[in-house]
Amino acid sequence: MKAMNKLMKRSNYFFEEIKKCNFCTNPSTENKILGIRLNTSQGLNPKDKCGIAVSIFRCSVCNLIYSNPQPIPVNIQEHYGIPPETYWKEEYFSYDPSYFKAQITTAKKIISFEPEMKALDIGSGLGKCMISLSNAGFDTYGIEPSITFRDKAISKMGIDADRLKLGMLEEVEYDISTFDFITFGAVLEHLYDPAGSIKTALNWLKPGGVIQIEVPSSRWLISKLFNFYFKMRGTNYVTNLSPMHTPYHMFEFDIRSFEKLADQLNFEIVEHHIEVCSIYHIPKLLHPLLKWYMNITNTGMQLTVWLRKTNT
Ligand SMILES: [Zn+2]
Repeated sequence: MKAMNKLMKRSNYFFEEIKKCNFCTNPSTENKILGIRLNTSQGLNPKDKCGIAVSIFRCSVCNLIYSNPQPIPVNIQEHYGIPPETYWKEEYFSYDPSYFKAQITTAKKIISFEPEMKALDIGSGLGKCMISLSNAGFDTYGIEPSITFRDKAISKMGIDADRLKLGMLEEVEYDISTFDFITFGAVLEHLYDPAGSIKTALNWLKPGGVIQIEVPSSRWLISKLFNFYFKMRGTNYVTNLSPMHTPYHMFEFDIRSFEKLADQLNFEIVEHHIEVCSIYHIPKLLHPLLKWYMNITNTGMQLTVWLRKTNT
């Protein structure tokens, strides 16, 4: 009964057929189906799990990983309208002054920072990145789609309500060429049209301005190991993405995805790097070896990309 309730609770989606890669427009008919993904944690034996699944594709041109069909919640608040205490742990409410510090240092270097330059944080969450940007001298603004998260950012973290807009990126407006620096943080993988969202952000960015993006890498070694394990057990399940359960990842990206998008939009890639990050669900004994291997093969978990708006 419990499982049934969960299913009913999670069934408020419409399923959109994805005809082409969001970043390079390569037709889905020419892309590879990696396998299927359940709407819940799959564990080590997904055959025993009750749920609904979608197919997971990898673009054969730019390595973007996406689900097809794409499950889109009828109401986005069903994904993110939950109390932040449920989604994030209590300690996340305390602000650490070093939060986002390394990224701000890089941003300032790339844009030749001057005080009061304008920054926009897309997907502000509890507003910690906004606080760090303000402390670093930026004139800071934010967008947050979750009502409950935005409320907490204002009531608990002291964010100015006038500076933090409520809505999805495509629902809010700013003047053209407003910002010097825009950060998507760990947001792009949650969006339903990430290429369209970058295009919108580029409109809000001044020429020469910079966008910072942190996303899951589609080359992550650990995903490949889990997929291999599922294959050895005679299933076609894959671990990539989580389109219908937390953390609601809709895409995984490769630097090639951004290179192909740069052919269509007015930006250039300033720099990028891959971080190994933490390893879960694998014995600790193997971590040093896996980290070493991921470092030398660029198959870590997180891809960070810096884009600069060009004039053309
Ligand atoms: Zn592609």
